[in-house]
Formats: sequence, structure tokens, C-alpha cells
Amino acid sequence: MEFSTLVKTYLELEKTQSRLEMSAIIADFLKTTPSENLPDIINFLMGSAFAPWSERELGVANKLMIKSLSKTTGVAEGRIDGMVRDLGDTGKVAEKICADASQTTLFTETLTVEKVKESLNKMSDLGGKGSQDKKMAYISEMLSSAGPVETRYVVKLILGELRLGVGEGVIKDAIVSAFGVSKELVENACNLTSDLGEVAATARKNGDFGLKEVGLKPGIPMKVMLAQKISGIDEAVEKLGRCAFEIKYDGMRIQIHKSKEEIKLFTRRLENVTKQFPELVKEAGKNINADSAIVEGELVAIEDNRKPRPFQDLSRRIKRKYDIEDMVESVPIEINLFDLVFLNGESLLECGFSKRHEKLKGVINETGTFRIAEEVVTDDCVIAQKFYDGALAMGHEGVMVKNLDAPYKPGSRVGYMYKIKPVMETLDLVITGATWGEGRRANWFGSFLISARDEVGGFCTIGRLGTGFTDEVLAEITETLKPLVLEEAGKEVVLKPGVVVEVAYEEIQKSPSYTSGYALRFPRLVRIRDDKGAEDADTVARVEQIASA
Ligand code: AMP
Repeated sequence: MEFSTLVKTYLELEKTQSRLEMSAIIADFLKTTPSENLPDIINFLMGSAFAPWSERELGVANKLMIKSLSKTTGVAEGRIDGMVRDLGDTGKVAEKICADASQTTLFTETLTVEKVKESLNKMSDLGGKGSQDKKMAYISEMLSSAGPVETRYVVKLILGELRLGVGEGVIKDAIVSAFGVSKELVENACNLTSDLGEVAATARKNGDFGLKEVGLKPGIPMKVMLAQKISGIDEAVEKLGRCAFEIKYDGMRIQIHKSKEEIKLFTRRLENVTKQFPELVKEAGKNINADSAIVEGELVAIEDNRKPRPFQDLSRRIKRKYDIEDMVESVPIEINLFDLVFLNGESLLECGFSKRHEKLKGVINETGTFRIAEEVVTDDCVIAQKFYDGALAMGHEGVMVKNLDAPYKPGSRVGYMYKIKPVMETLDLVITGATWGEGRRANWFGSFLISARDEVGGFCTIGRLGTGFTDEVLAEITETLKPLVLEEAGKEVVLKPGVVVEVAYEEIQKSPSYTSGYALRFPRLVRIRDDKGAEDADTVARVEQIASA
């Protein structure tokens, strides 16, 4: 397929913000896309060179792109750099300079989707000395067979700057309408396998019948089952009777996929983090006694005495792409396994939790750092409460409660698994800045910079609040805040501290991003405290106290 055909679709997509129109444009395009191109086309439409769960990475930053452009067109790097700074869009700069250059030199042959894919794969295979030069050579090769408009999109694709707003939902709707299949079955298939290309190809080839056959596949992540909230132990026992209470570890949910000797690790957001945790790969390889399996667990960064470390330490490990062995030493981890959904070629999704758990115990060799989550199975509230109190005393977040008979429903929050954690103390914080909303909410502020008081009557930022507002509340708060605007730059405004909001959150973390030195994780509005003024807001000292409790 010619790359220019894809570019035509990119150009159409750029003209609209409407999800409906986007999926209609994509549906038309998918109908004419050859099946073998579907996986790449779907990734490219979503603005990514590879599927999110792929281990592949391009590792091309703006600087290398500018060098490559210079090499391809003969235009000096400094000049391109200046143009990028002026236009703020490397793709458009590439188009401009290639339009000039193409009159004299470029354009050797037609660029195809296959050629782009092949070059991207080769680039991601490179590593070590000389790899930057080789990457430049691949980029040059692609650009010299691309017309100016295609150049813009090749560059954006490589840099990950396409931002067309095409998400998984748009693609799923497009598959439904392109191939006339059931929305529910497409949804279900995408929950079982994140391979949207495969889902699209199946929908085209075998319709609803084929989609029903889509199942879990070791090596390709599934969407995980989510938990609902429940008020406490009593409600859990009342609802579920005898059930499993497990420690709720505070870390990152990981799916371990074993297929023959190969181990892959995925996060809840389907990112492939296999490279980042070589010690876990080793442990899983040795201690999952199965030919193939999909196991779930919570990965936690720990101190020597197994005390959980703050979540940021784990984030550091996820983000680290080099010198990984140093991180293995400096931030040790353990995994607490809690489910098994696939074993030796068979899906266990339809089995009840107790059966899956029994099988989990049967296939895992536990070690100090490769463990099965601690649990107690009971219908006795006293025993469960003791377990919960013990979990909190050990520094864990709370407990998870599991319905013993319930199957596993990928991608759903169906009430087969609940979480119990202590209710967080809320904070009263002052709004000191805001950002204008977008689309339907363009006339209201959309998110708010929130701050705590310091010792000397000033205010220190602690987070951005954008959750928990109804349209009415947004309209109301915008009217209240408008007279307090001190400065406005683009969509950002600085506000005189005057409005206090009560904010709930998941956790307080240390953070250099805000002037208080702390950040609220998942802050959400509880209510506007009309009864409080800025001088009544909580202080940074109070934040510190809660954070260290
Ligand atoms: P939340 O993120 O607050 O909705 O809580 C659910 C999350 O708790 C899950 O997605 C897991 O990442 C995590 N978790 C920790 N321990 C367990 C456990 N024993 N069973 C299931 N999930 C757990």
C-alpha cells in the first residue's frame, strides 16, 4: 500500500474533532486496507509506530531527526533547528524543506507502508555504537522517497507527534462499522487481546462468528479486571458471604506472560516492561511450572526488610531505559501474585476465583521475592477485620476482597473483586490558577491549580484538580473565579487566592513539580468550601504531617 493513501486519511482526520466522523473516515479506510496491512495501519492511525504492548522502541528524538533532515536535504542543521523553534512542529518544517529540496534532488521511488514498517523495525533493532548513524540512514532513505506531505507524517510518526486523537474507542467503532460486526463482540475481543489488528482482520474474515473465537494469547496483554469500592469488612461479608481477603499491595499491577521459555511483562496500561525488570523475568522463568501461563500480581519496590517503598521508586524503574542493572541493585522489588487466567494452552477465565487460585498455588514455586499474595478465606468479620488491621499496620494500602465463585471478566469492573482502604482525610486547598476548558467546556475553566498555605502567608502549589466537577459546578466556579484573574497567557490564568475547595485524593507523594514539594495523586473535588477563605486553607505543614503518618 502506498504511504500516500494513509496520508490522505491523516489529512481527512486532521479536519475533524468529532469521534463519530473520525470513526467513519477510518471505517472507509479499513474497508479498502489489505488484511496484511491492518495491524500496521491501525497502529499508524493511532499515531504510534508499534503496538503499545510491543517491546519495540525507535529512540529517535528531535535532535536526531533534525540531523537526519539536514543530511537528507543539505539544509544546515542550525537553520532547521531555528525553523523548528519558530514553527514548533518538526513535521511541518520537514515538509517545507523537503518541498524546496524535492525540486532538485529527492524522490527516487514511491514510499510504501511496507517500506516504512520495515525501516521502523530495523531502526528499533539497532543498539550500541553507531546505531544513531544507522538510524539516520534509514530516516534519510524513507524521506528521499517521500513527497513533501508524506515527509511531514513520516517525521511525526517517528517522533510520536501525530496526535490525531484516534484512540482505541474510535478504532473499535470503525471496525464495527467497516465489517458489520457486533459492537459487544468487538469490545469483548479487544479486552481479551490488545491486538486490534488481529481483531480487525478476524472481523473482516469471519465476522461475529470469528470474534467469538478470539481468546487470550500468551505474549499479548489482556485488559485486566477492575475492582469496585466497598465500605468495609461488614459490607463485604454481607454481600459475598465466605470470600477471600487479600493484602492490597501498593505497587503496580503486572501481567506475567509465559510462553515456552519466553517471559513478557505488561502493566495495566498494556505497556511492555519486560526489559525493565530482568530479575522478575528470571524468577518467573524459573518459578512458573507451566509451558504457558498468564499470571497477575502486584509489583512492589521494597526495602531490605520487605517494607514497601514509595510508588515513585517503582516509577523510576519503569521509566529507566538504560543501566537497568544499577536499578536492580538500588531499587529491589518483589511481586505478590494473585490470579492465574491462562494455563498450558487453556483459558481459566470461566473458572471461579477459588479454582484459579488453587491452580495458581499449584504452579508457582514461591521464593522470597516471587510470592503469592497473603490471604485469608473466611466469612467471619472478626477474623477479616484482624487481617485488615494487620495489613494496615504493615504499611499496606488495605485489602482486596474476592468473590470465590466469580469468573474473571477482562476489562470490566463487574463486582467480582472489591477494595477496602481507609477513608482519606480530605484537604481544604486554595485555587491559585486555572486552565480554560476545551470543546463543549470552552467557556469554563477546565482544571485548577491548587495550593496549600505556607508559614508566611503565601501559597505553595500541590496539584492540578480536574475531576469531580459537574457542568453546573464548573459554570458556577468559573463565574466566582473570573474576578480573581491576575494574569492570562494562552489558556492559562493566574488567580488571586480566594476560593477554597475540599479535595480528596489517593495519596500524597513527594514531588519536585509543585512548590510545596508534594503532589496529590488523583485529586478530586469533594465540594467548594464557600464557608472558608484562603486564610482558612490547610497548610503545607498539615500536608507534611498527613504524608508522613
Ligand atoms: P485501585 O487501583 O485502588 O482501584 O485498586 C485495585 C488495584 O489494587 C489493582 O488493580 C491492583 O493493581 C492492586 N492490588 C494490590 N493487591 C492486590 C491483590 N491482592 N489483588 C488484586 N489487586 C491488587
